[in-house]
Amino acid sequence: MKQSDQVECPVCGMRVGRHDREISYRQMNFAFCSEQCRARFLAHPHLYVGYPGQAAPKQNGQVALKRRRLHLQQPLSTEGEVLVGEMLRGLMGIDAVTVSGDTIEITYDLLQVSLEELESAITAAGTRLGEGWPERLRRALIHASEESEIEAREATPPHHYLP
Ligand SMILES: [Zn+2]
Repeated sequence: MKQSDQVECPVCGMRVGRHDREISYRQMNFAFCSEQCRARFLAHPHLYVGYPGQAAPKQNGQVALKRRRLHLQQPLSTEGEVLVGEMLRGLMGIDAVTVSGDTIEITYDLLQVSLEELESAITAAGTRLGEGWPERLRRALIHASEESEIEAREATPPHHYLP
């Protein structure tokens, strides 16, 4: 591929072909390395593009920290607290994790971590704990994720986006 046919994926910065998974947003074209990056962009385009006369957080090298609090039906054991904390801190873009009894608090960079990645880390911890924990942890996260789906719906979708 010629250098001139390549652009940056606006979400992760990877070099991609100019027309890969291309969308048009505010008279600008964007190409994406993956469906995951494209979905993240469409959910919060202003984080990557900015408003007129105002650079986006991503363009300024900033982070968009988001805190999510999960409530569990029953408290974790001390071993469980350590394991869940370790699995979450192992992800890229995690700012802080507090696991205490029946509450898990995760502060993460929306520009780097997706809900799917949080879910797979939490599910992996649950699988290692066994005894109903995969389901219990996932349910707590799904409950917390409703909030972000509402936010995504409120964000203005690019009107000439063609699926
Ligand atoms: Zn990407």
